Amino acid sequence: MAEKDYYDVLGVSKDASQDEIKKAYRKLSKKYHPDINKEPGAEQKFKDVNEAYEMLSDGQKRQQYDQYGSAGPQGQGFGGFGGGQDFSGFGGGGGFDDIFSQFFGGGGGRRRDPSAPQPGRDLQYTMTLKFEEAIFGKTTTIKYNRDAQCETCHGTGAKEGTSPVTCSKCGGRGVIDVIQNTPLGRMRTQTTCDVCGGTGKEIKEKCTTCGGSGHVAQRHELKVNVPAGVDDGQQMRLQNQGEAGANGGPYGDLYIIFHVTPSREFRRDGADIYFDQPISFSQAALGDEIQVKTVHGDVKLKVPSGTQTETKFRLRGKGAPKLNGKGNGDEHVTVRVETPKNLNKRQKEALTAFAAASGERVSGVKKSVFDKLKDAFDD
Ligand SMILES: [Zn+2]
Ligand SMILES: [Zn+2]
Repeated sequence: MAEKDYYDVLGVSKDASQDEIKKAYRKLSKKYHPDINKEPGAEQKFKDVNEAYEMLSDGQKRQQYDQYGSAGPQGQGFGGFGGGQDFSGFGGGGGFDDIFSQFFGGGGGRRRDPSAPQPGRDLQYTMTLKFEEAIFGKTTTIKYNRDAQCETCHGTGAKEGTSPVTCSKCGGRGVIDVIQNTPLGRMRTQTTCDVCGGTGKEIKEKCTTCGGSGHVAQRHELKVNVPAGVDDGQQMRLQNQGEAGANGGPYGDLYIIFHVTPSREFRRDGADIYFDQPISFSQAALGDEIQVKTVHGDVKLKVPSGTQTETKFRLRGKGAPKLNGKGNGDEHVTVRVETPKNLNKRQKEALTAFAAASGERVSGVKKSVFDKLKDAFDD
């Protein structure tokens, strides 16, 4: 007779309460009831579910089962272990693991279906962009290594024209039960099936292209549209450009992480750009219309007379594009008034005159020169 794990049959954990067991039983017996489910194998599953419930809903029977792994110490169930065919009632249809995933959200406390498709791994790619490239975006082609699905066998690993079959040793469960005699009684433990390596599928004839793995190494080439306005540290997800999944599962994703080289002139904070503009003392005092550099080209800026150093101006829409497509940020211009250096004779005279006209006594100027000028203005 086949040895079944009654907890597995009902899809409950070993410490499930009577309530949980009852609930699982109701759900499964409804699902596999011969009047409802006409699928092949459903009737057998219905019987298994009933058998499991009978055992686990009875406190005494359950205790015995927990201890000995079968109906009782005299139960004859152990002989069948590892014999393969004994598990034919299990897994062959693949139905039970589906139930497990319904119950446990895809494998919480319980093993998941080893032969179910699994999505592939996500990959990361770091792309370095120049300051302007990040602002205006670009189209480029990247190359990277990944595990791709073998096109000959479509990821199954089986030779063309054949397909993997349910593992003959574990019946598709991916694990086998091991019974050990211990001073406390016989203990049941599970170990990964050595024939299928836990996949539950056996490949009789391997695909010659991939050697049975279902995957091939690929130098993948991909055209990437870098959107205008990306910023340092941001990432972009490209679906299905990661590695191939297991058992024919979907590809993982590729995450491109942008590294933006700083600019010598501009600083950027999101969509806003910051720029320092030097102006002369005369420009600041008298006012001027100047040309200011932006990433979009030079822009005119009116500096009013009497502008102080560190005064900030805003050039609307001259920043980086916003990623949500809603226009551009601004350029913030900070003017820095430069004090003239290495004055020539005429400049010195003019500034001394200026100081005198302002009624200033500047100690850097010879007294005689100053007094002469001051007198001139005082007249
Ligand atoms: Zn292949
Ligand atoms: Zn196996």
